[in-house]
Amino acid sequence: MEVISLAAGTSYFKSPETAIDAAVQALEAGHTLYGPTEGTLALRETICRKYNLDGIDLSASQVVVTPGTKQALFNLLTVLIQPNDEVVVPTPAWFGFHELMRYSPGKLVPLPTHLQDGYKLSPEMLEATLTERTRILLLTNPGNPSGRLYSKTELEALLAVTNKYPNLYIISDEIYDLITYSRAFTTILSCEGAKASRTIIVNGFSKTFAMSGWRLGFIIGPNDLVKKSIDFQGATFSGVSVFLQEAAKAAIELGSAHLALQKDVLTRNREIMRQGLEAIPNVRFYLPDGAYYFFPDLSDYLGHTSISGEQIRTTDDLCRYFRSCYNLELASGDLFGAPGHVRMSFAVEPHRLQDAMQRLRQGLLLLTA
Ligand code: PMP
Repeated sequence: MEVISLAAGTSYFKSPETAIDAAVQALEAGHTLYGPTEGTLALRETICRKYNLDGIDLSASQVVVTPGTKQALFNLLTVLIQPNDEVVVPTPAWFGFHELMRYSPGKLVPLPTHLQDGYKLSPEMLEATLTERTRILLLTNPGNPSGRLYSKTELEALLAVTNKYPNLYIISDEIYDLITYSRAFTTILSCEGAKASRTIIVNGFSKTFAMSGWRLGFIIGPNDLVKKSIDFQGATFSGVSVFLQEAAKAAIELGSAHLALQKDVLTRNREIMRQGLEAIPNVRFYLPDGAYYFFPDLSDYLGHTSISGEQIRTTDDLCRYFRSCYNLELASGDLFGAPGHVRMSFAVEPHRLQDAMQRLRQGLLLLTA
C-alpha cells in the first residue's frame, strides 16, 4: 500500500512555468548579486497593484519582501515584542506560531474558538481576552487549520474592539487569500477601522502559487514599522535573491488565470473529502470556506482499541495507528491546539484522496470501544 500523506502544508500542484522561466531569465541576465534589502521596487510595486485592484491605496514604501511568510512573522515579532508582551492567537492555529513564539520574549495567549461556532472569533470573545499587555492580535484569514473565512462585517466588528487598544497591532496572515470556495476573500486592509498605523498583512507565495520551496513572502505595514523590519532584515539576511523576486512578480502577474484550474481541482476535492467524512459515523467537522484543509473532530474514536490490540488514547496514537496500519499520514490536532482533531489536506491528487478517505473510514470503523 503506498503512503498517502494528508499531513503536508503544501499542495501537489507545480510552481507556475512562467515563474520558473522568469527566474531562469533573471539568472541568465546576471541578477545574481545583492539586491535591495527591502525587495526590488518592481516586485513591491506589483504587490501594491494586487491590493490597488481592491481599492486599497498602498505605496511600495509600505512593503518588505521577505524569505517566506514565516520569516515575515519572525521579523515582526522581533521588532514589535518586548519581554512579557502578549500575542493573542485564535486557536486552533497553525503550529508555526507556537514554534516562532519559542524564540520570542513575548507570551502566546491562545484564544480558543469552537467547531460548533464555525471557529468564529466574536468581538465579545476578543474583548474578553485583550489587555493592556496585548501587543499583537494574530489573525489567520482564511484559517489554517480551520478553513474559516471572515467576512468584511465580521472583520470590522473585530477591528472596532482592537481600536480601543492604542498599543495593539493586528497582524493578518493572509497566505491563503486566493484559495477560497463559496465566498470571496476580503483583506483586512480594505475594512473600515483598519488603522494604517496599526494593521499589518503578511502573505506569501507558498500556497496560492505552490512555491513553498522558493521561500518568498512579504509584509505590508505602516512606514515606521516597515523601516524597522528592513533594518532587521538587513542585519540578519539581506534582501531576497533578485532572480526569485522576478519569479514572484511573474506569479502575481499571472493572477487568477493560473488559479482557475487549481481552484477547480480543489473544489472537487473538497467535496470528495466532505462526502468521505460524512460517510463515517460520529465525526463532526466544519466545511472550510478557504485554504485546503478539513479539521474533523475524531475524539469519539479515542479510548478505543485496534484489531491488533493497540490502545488509541491520544490523537497522536490515532495518527500513529493510521501511519503504521494504513500508510495514511494525518496531522495531529495537538499541534494546532485542538486535541481530538486531525488536519487533513485535500490538496492531493484526486485518486489518492478517494483512497485516503476509504482508509480513514475503514480504520475508524475497525476500532472498538
Ligand atoms: N502562515 C500560515 C497560516 C501557514 O499555513 C504557513 C505555511 N504552512 C505559513 C504562514 C508559512 O508560509 P511560508 O512558506 O511562506 O513561510
